[in-house]
Amino acid sequence: MNVYDSEVLKGILFKKGYSETIKPQEADLIVVNTCSVREHAETRAIGRLNELSRYKLENPEIKLAVIGCMAQRLGEKFLKEVPALDFVLGTEELFKLPEYLDKKNEKPLVALSLSRLREIQVLPRRKHICTAFVAISRGCDNFCSYCVVPYVRGPEKHRKVSDIIKEVQCLIEYGCREVSLIGQNVNSYKDDGYDFADLLREVSKTDIQRIRFMTSHPRDLSPKLIQAMAFLEKVCEHLHLPLQSGSDKILDKMDRKYSSEDYLRLVDSARSKIQNLSLTTDLIVGFPGEKDDDFQKTLEMVDKIEFDSAFMFKYSPREGTKAFLSEDDVPQEEKIKRLQALIELQKDIAKKKNQELVGKTEEVLIDGKSKRDKANWKGKGRSNKTVIISKEKENKDLFGKIVKVRITKADSFTLFGEIEK
Ligand code: SAH
Ligand code: SF4
Repeated sequence: MNVYDSEVLKGILFKKGYSETIKPQEADLIVVNTCSVREHAETRAIGRLNELSRYKLENPEIKLAVIGCMAQRLGEKFLKEVPALDFVLGTEELFKLPEYLDKKNEKPLVALSLSRLREIQVLPRRKHICTAFVAISRGCDNFCSYCVVPYVRGPEKHRKVSDIIKEVQCLIEYGCREVSLIGQNVNSYKDDGYDFADLLREVSKTDIQRIRFMTSHPRDLSPKLIQAMAFLEKVCEHLHLPLQSGSDKILDKMDRKYSSEDYLRLVDSARSKIQNLSLTTDLIVGFPGEKDDDFQKTLEMVDKIEFDSAFMFKYSPREGTKAFLSEDDVPQEEKIKRLQALIELQKDIAKKKNQELVGKTEEVLIDGKSKRDKANWKGKGRSNKTVIISKEKENKDLFGKIVKVRITKADSFTLFGEIEK
């Protein structure tokens, strides 16, 4: 969501005549978008902002802005952490940055209002991309006990179907082949009688080639959505379904509103209906009260389900959340130990699953060159797995093309292959 917000803001600033530089010393304006989900992200953001402050000391004309979740959370307090700031703009105010730049402010500006903004009016200019995010909703009403998102992004707001389609069409004009529909909880989407499955059907009617979405909450994963995924050809066979924990006691304390049994039933249903489904998840270790046997249940679920990949985190207490009131009683060393054990298990599973694809064909949307070997193109399969393509002549421009790739090799994170002739 932050990548998307930054792109939208960039589009608005381009419209005003700004252009982009990666050299801070050349900039008139430096913007740092921030995340509050875990403390680590916040510590890094403050470090980065203080580092960037030195350009402002050298040239006081430079404007320094912090935007996003952390700006929303800290507000005025941010000015104490980073005195050089000119703007502190929250998760919805950030789109007004260009307007605020026109006003001659003597003092730093802090703006945090959360309207029930339903739509982003400006269609961002996002040229030369073959895959793009499109937000379909903002905010969250779920209040999982560990999570700061509902506090910093406000209540869930859904964009209109027509606005979403307009944005997809605008992206198609710029050459985009794939859209990822994003929201904190996409499958609770509703607009004027349309639910998320209906929205997928509407987006499928456009000329976009592939559709992805994230994140889905297990509680809102309806049979209708599973059916839509199975039948709509453009919708990729990838489901990101955060489990968070394998222990029912912990799931209950997390206020996730499903049990491990419910989750297993959903997985069975999705896998039986959607061929070649790639299933990914989010997991947290060391939640308050997580005993060793709770953690073992997480390992057991991961072992049983065999996710294609997982984002795995140590619990980070977030002020203002319900879980913050419970003692953070799993020692740091224990959290690290559990996280490492979980990562090791998941790595082995991912490797096994990826190696099962050797000899098979993946449909890959090529989105650039491999970072490690610039001679090789890379892209994403429908499963959302990264595929590195070797043996293609460098002078052939494959950017944005969808090609069939025969997988020849695989590790835990990447597939390697050759284009089928
Ligand atoms: N809306 C999405 C994800 C939002 S945040 C969802 O419900 O799944 C992304 C992930 O960060 C979460 O799924 C969770 O695994 C993790 N996360 C959120 N708050 C956290 C915290 N306080 N400590 C550690 N991980 C957290
Ligand atoms: Fe946070 Fe839960 Fe909402 Fe996801 S669904 S953003 S984890 S409160």
